[in-house]
Parts: sequence; C-alpha cells; structure tokens
Amino acid sequence: MSRPTFADIRLDHLVHNYRLAKSHHGGNALATIKANAYGHGAIACAEALHEEADGFAVAAIEEAIQLRQAGITKPILLLEGFFEPAELALINQYDFWTAVHHRWQVDAILNASNLKAPINVWLKMDSGMHRVGIHPSEYRAVWQALEASGKVSKLTKMTHFARADEPNVDATTKQIRTFELNTEGLEGDSSICNSPAILAWSDAYRQWARPGIMLYGATPFSEPQPLAAQLKPVMQLTAGVIGVRELPAGEPIGYGARFITETPTKVGVVSCGYADGYPRLAKTGTPVMIDGHMSRLIGRVSMDMLTVDLTNVPNAGIGSRVELWGDLIPVSTVAESAGTIPYEILCNVKRAHFRYSG
Ligand code: PLP
Repeated sequence: MSRPTFADIRLDHLVHNYRLAKSHHGGNALATIKANAYGHGAIACAEALHEEADGFAVAAIEEAIQLRQAGITKPILLLEGFFEPAELALINQYDFWTAVHHRWQVDAILNASNLKAPINVWLKMDSGMHRVGIHPSEYRAVWQALEASGKVSKLTKMTHFARADEPNVDATTKQIRTFELNTEGLEGDSSICNSPAILAWSDAYRQWARPGIMLYGATPFSEPQPLAAQLKPVMQLTAGVIGVRELPAGEPIGYGARFITETPTKVGVVSCGYADGYPRLAKTGTPVMIDGHMSRLIGRVSMDMLTVDLTNVPNAGIGSRVELWGDLIPVSTVAESAGTIPYEILCNVKRAHFRYSG
C-alpha cells in the first residue's frame, strides 16, 4: 500500500473558475499556469482548459516548451520574457508570445539577427510596482521603436499591479492612471488584470486578463469578497491517520514540545508534513476535517507527519481521512495560520499522489 497522501484535482472546478474570470472581465483571458499551474500540474490544467482558454501564461521558457511538447497549441505568453537573446530562436520555433520588461530585452529584439519571423511582444510598463517593466517616461519611445523595427508581429500593452488585493488603497488607481497616461494614442490591445483586479477593479478591464490564483479556487483577498465566494477549490489535500496516541494531561507532542496537552487527549498522527507542502509554520488550532468532523492541528508540523486532535471525533482511528484543505477548509485559512498566502502553499505541494477528475 502506498502512502495515503493525496492531492485530488477537480478539473471541472478549474474550468468553472476560468469561465467566471473570463466572463466577469470580458474579452480574452490567458490562464496563468506558471509554477506547474500553482502546484496543480501544468499539463493536466492546460489540457483541461485547452478548448476554451484564449491562451496560457508561464514564467520560464522551459515550462512553455513542455506545454508545446505535450500538444498545447494555444498561445503561450512568457511573463518574464526571455533570459538571454539566444532564446529568441526558441520563441520563433515554438511560436511563443513574449513579455518585454527591460531595456536589454528591447535592444536584443532590435538587434536580433536570428529571427525567422516577427514575434508577438507584450511590452510591460512599470506603472508603480517597481519590480520589472519599462519606465513610463520611456514607454512610448520603446513602443514606437519596436513598432518600426519590423521585428514584431503584434504589440500589446501590459502592466501588473502591486496592491490589487487591497481594495481600499489608492495605489491601484494610481497605477491605472500612470498606465493610461503613458499609453494614450498607442494602438493595440492592453492587459492589466491579475486575479484580484478581475475580482475587484473593473476600471482595469481591458482586452486581455491574466487570471492565476482564482483559477485554482483560492481568493487573493484576506477579507470575504462576493465574487471570490463563487470560486470552487480545485485541489483537495488529504492524508490518512497512521498512528494514534492516548495522552494524559500535561504531555508534550512533537518537535520542540510546542503543544502540551491540557486535558486527556487522543492524538492522531497524519501522513503529511512540510515535505508534502503542508506549511511548517501552521499554528496549533489550524482547522482540519477528520472523517467529516471539524478538528484542529496540534503541535509542530514535521517533515513527513503532522498531529491532529482526535479527542472529539467519533470513531476516529487508523485509516481515518483528514482533509487538510479543499472543499471544507479553504487553503487561504491554512495560509493565514502559517503567516503566508495561498499562492505559496499551493506551489509547494509536491510529493502527494495526484489524482485528477472532472
Ligand atoms: N500576470 C503576471 C505578470 C503575474 O506575475 C501573475 C502572477 O504572479 C499573474 C498575472 C497572475 O496573478 P494572480 O495569481 O494574482 O491572478
């Protein structure tokens, strides 16, 4: 028997979430499936969305090549562009779209001697995040140089938000304004929205959306949000109880004795740890669902195991099923308990047995 640790992936929920993102935003939507589709399996997710997705977005050219080799024929955008000029040949060969976010990339295209055909470029502006992107004051000149170069088949305007998950700050409005001001009169499509912007910033809707986290059914917001409530979780992480201890009050559990029983406690040892992707920093009290009953994590998470409270779970014992997140426990609840975000939690899921349905 193999280790009873499973990531069950509902591809029908993925499709539901994609449709929600696209219909709410309008226009086209590139499904962001970088980082192995946020831990869900990039090829399986791309195949499930292939019929209706307008295209896909990834971070690295290796991810994009794997998708092409798996038979994905839809447009694939490289969100970080290329990392060296030699990759332009691969962009041609596999017909990728590429973001261009830095002056050296612009120069590489303008000076390219290895292009077999003009390429599809998404020119990214740094409208306020100050991570990557062409400076607003240079944007127009760069756009015009690329347009005139004959090296580009289509140019799309693009920017990315730093704080769209914070509905009450004006940083997002400022970014939209900067983007608009510095692209005025430039003919072509635009793309601004990530998931939080699709969910909450209709001022930023343009021709192309780039949903990521919402496709997987997780909310980017820390507060409840009406549209996010319609998302369906795609991954359910479950594991089995592989050990049971009956402890009296006053006994420590696990590394560092981080939890001391206050009353007689029935402890379940569960086959999932931080090497599976369950966050080590999740605190005692993080909810878990055991055979359909709500309970809690207790003690420190180990590499391969974690411990839960079985005291009030009727008939719990070896083989009981523990939902760590999924339909009943939002991954964002676990993320919050660990002081992080659902993006990081989902990306870290690796060793579980993946089972796809829908
Ligand atoms: N667009 C870009 C440029 C990104 O870097 C990302 C993700 O980080 C996304 C879109 C998708 O963002 P989200 O997962 O918040 O929807």
